[in-house]
Amino acid sequence: MQKRLFFPLVFLFIIQWSLQAQRNWEEIAIEPTKITDQVFMLTGSGGNIGVLLGEDGTYIIDDQYAPLSDKILEAIKSLGGDAPTFVLNTHWHGDHTGGNENMAASGATIVAHKNVRERMSTKQDRGNGRTVDPSPESALPVITFEEDLTLYANGEQLLFFHVHEAHTDGDAIVYFTKNNVIHMGDTYFNGRYPYIDLYSGGTVNGIIEAANRVLFLANKDTKIIPGHGALSNKKELTAYRDMIMEVRDRVQQAIDAEMTFEEIQSANLTKNYDDEWTSGFIDGKRIVDIIYTDLTRVEKE
Ligand SMILES: [Zn+2]
Repeated sequence: MQKRLFFPLVFLFIIQWSLQAQRNWEEIAIEPTKITDQVFMLTGSGGNIGVLLGEDGTYIIDDQYAPLSDKILEAIKSLGGDAPTFVLNTHWHGDHTGGNENMAASGATIVAHKNVRERMSTKQDRGNGRTVDPSPESALPVITFEEDLTLYANGEQLLFFHVHEAHTDGDAIVYFTKNNVIHMGDTYFNGRYPYIDLYSGGTVNGIIEAANRVLFLANKDTKIIPGHGALSNKKELTAYRDMIMEVRDRVQQAIDAEMTFEEIQSANLTKNYDDEWTSGFIDGKRIVDIIYTDLTRVEKE
């Protein structure tokens, strides 16, 4: 029971979620980016959405927030697609699954890793007394899997595979094998320090391993959709992976040298990375705090 709680990060997370809650949805536009003739990325508010179009129906990866569902359906229609037949959730967070109920009502079957259903269907502890209530039954994935799933549609072979304890304990990555596009969900924040959700089973080593799995599959032409940030590629993902490994190693060396948390923070371990990777959500001090907490926490029995 000696789990070290990570209050500052939790506050940030709450602030981010409450900002989203107060957002004026009217002002948010859903913008499509064409990746190939049949694969698109949609941005609005929340996680990037992947779209696969074709004769067998529309497949989407994640669905942002419920108030945006009509705009998302409009955007898909403008690209020539019908309402989605399948929604694949990359993980349980509300900025990726908020539209599930609406998409299911318009005919979609929701698919995700089993821990997505588990976390969405139970009250979630976010630390410091903060909780997230269960989602309604109609928002839950109805097909779940443990390791991987292959879907065949629209001339595509979609590999939907679990990566262990990365951003959360229920992350899954989608590989559009024919179109050579990979959607990484929040295991990849392009150009930003990663967010590792320690309250949902995320770990720094899992984030690195997820990047390694994708780097193994990708070639120089692969287009990579991050959970947040601009459309990306193998080169940028490599830089992200290398940065995280280096920060992890520096934190581990400091722990091994028996530095206190305060001494580690004073040492400014991310100094050479902060200009490039700091986001409004996670800065150098916070990523060190997250990684330190991850590497030193004592798990419950
Ligand atoms: Zn997330």
